Amino acid sequence: MSKVKLYDTTLRDGAQGEGISYSVMDKMRITKELDMLGIHYIEGGWPGSNPKDMEFYLKMAKTRLENSALVAFGSTRRPHLKANQDSNLKAILKSQAKIVAIFGKTWDLHITDVLKTTPEENLRMIKDTVDLLVAKGKTAFYDAEHFFDAYKANPKYSLNCLLAAQAAGARAVVLCDTNGGTLTSEIFKVVKEIRPRINIGLGIHCHNDSGLAVANSLAAVEAGVDMVQGTINGYGERCGNADLIPIIANLKLKMGIDCIDKDKLKELTHVSHFISEISNMRQKTDQPFVGPSAFAHKGGVHINAVMKNPKTYEHIDPIIIGNRRRILVSELAGKTGILIRAKELEFDLTKEDPKTKKILKLIQNLEHQGYHFEAAEASFELLMKKAFKKYNKFFELEGFRVVVEKRSDKRIASEAIIKLKVRGIQEHTAADGDGPINALDNALRKALKAFYPTLSKMHLTDFKVRVLDEKAGTAAKVRVLIQSQDEKDIWNTIGLSENIIEASWQALVDSVEYKLLKDKIK
Ligand SMILES: [Zn+2]
Repeated sequence: MSKVKLYDTTLRDGAQGEGISYSVMDKMRITKELDMLGIHYIEGGWPGSNPKDMEFYLKMAKTRLENSALVAFGSTRRPHLKANQDSNLKAILKSQAKIVAIFGKTWDLHITDVLKTTPEENLRMIKDTVDLLVAKGKTAFYDAEHFFDAYKANPKYSLNCLLAAQAAGARAVVLCDTNGGTLTSEIFKVVKEIRPRINIGLGIHCHNDSGLAVANSLAAVEAGVDMVQGTINGYGERCGNADLIPIIANLKLKMGIDCIDKDKLKELTHVSHFISEISNMRQKTDQPFVGPSAFAHKGGVHINAVMKNPKTYEHIDPIIIGNRRRILVSELAGKTGILIRAKELEFDLTKEDPKTKKILKLIQNLEHQGYHFEAAEASFELLMKKAFKKYNKFFELEGFRVVVEKRSDKRIASEAIIKLKVRGIQEHTAADGDGPINALDNALRKALKAFYPTLSKMHLTDFKVRVLDEKAGTAAKVRVLIQSQDEKDIWNTIGLSENIIEASWQALVDSVEYKLLKDKIK
C-alpha cells in the first residue's frame, strides 16, 4: 500500500474563506482535532502577516502533538533584499515551527506584472529563501503558486522554479492550482511530466473554482504526488480549497492508499461537524460521506430497496466513516418509511394494520398542505403519539393576543397576553419580547412554569420562516420551523398557516409539548 501525506491548511487558506474568522483558541482546538485524526502536517497560519498567528505558534511551541507536525507559512524574500533581512522570514524563524512552507511565483505574468521584477531575480529569491531556512535547520517546502497556469505559459521557466527550490535543499515542492481553473485531465498530464524531474517530495494544492478540487487532487495522486493539501469541509478563498474529508475517504476506501489509521476513519463525520461548528459555518447537508443527507433515503422505492440490501443505494457503509443511515418521513416514503419510524419510536405497527394506512394518508394530506416532516421529527413524533392515543394535553389555550407597537422614538415594542388552563386552573399572563414570537414564547412559558418547571431548561435556538406560494402575495402560507434545545437534545418542530403568528404558535406548542413528553411529565 503506497502512502500519501496529508497537509491541512484549514487554519491558513481555510481561514481566508468568506465568513470565517478564528481566534487563537479556535485554532488550538482545531489543531488538536486534526492531530487526533492523524493529519501529517498542519499549516497554522502566516506568522509574518498578523500577531494572532504569531501568538498561535508561540502557544503551540509549548503544546505536544501526538501525530501531526506544525508548519509555518510565508513567502519567498522580497526582490533585491537579503533573505535574513526580510521581516516576513524573520517572523517565520521566530515562530519556532520546524517545518516551513514558502510560496513563490512560477508564472512569468505574475513576476513581471505583480512582483515587478525579473524572472532571474525570482529564481534567486527562491534559492536564497530556501538556503536561509535550511541553514537555520528548518525543513522547507516550496509551494509553486499558479504552477499549472505557469506551466502552460512557460513550461521551461516554471520547472526551473521547482528545480531552484530542490537544488537549494527543499524537501518537497507543491504544485498549486491557485486559480482553480485547471481540468482533471490536464492536472494528471502535467503531474506525470513533472514527477520524473523531481527527486524530492511532490505535493498538490487545488482550489475549487471549477468544482474539481477533490477530483484534481485524486488525479494528482494517481499521477504520482505523495502529498495532498486541502482544508476540512473545503473552506477557503472564493469557492474554497480541496475538501480533505472526501479526499481521505476516497484514498482509503476506493483507492487503497494509506493516509490515516483505519480506526480513525470513523472520526471523519465528527471532525467535519466539529470544525463546521467552530468555523461558525452551517454544515453542508449534502456534503459527500459526512453530511446528514449523505445516507438519507426519501423515495419509497429507495427505502424499500435499502431495507433489503443497503448496497442498492449506498456506495459505502456509512458506519465506516461515522455517519448513519436515515430514513426520511415524507409523503414520498410510503408505508415502509412510516413503519421504520414507528419502530424507532417503539410503536407496534405492521404494513397490513389499518392504522398504517391512516397515518400515511394523514401525512400525505399534511405534506400536501405544506407541512414538511423531514425537517421536524419532533412534530412527527407528536403526530404519531396522537394517532396512537399516547398523548395527553398539557394545557388548553383559551386565547392569546399579540401587540406590536412602533413608538415615536423609533423603538418597537412587542407584548403578548395569554390565557390558558392547566389542570383546571386558569392562568392569565403577559410578557414582553424582542419581537412578537419571542413575546408569545415568553408569555407561554411564564404561564406554564409553575406547573412544568423543566421548561426553564429549554430554549429556542433557531427560527426559520418560508413563504410557500409566493405568487399568492400576502395571502400565501408560511411555514415556520423552530429548533429547540435543552442540556441533552436538539429537536425541530413545524407550524403552517397563512398567519405567521399562528404558524409560529403551532411550532412553539409542539416544541413545548415534545419537551414535556420527553421528560415523561404527566
Ligand atoms: Zn491556496
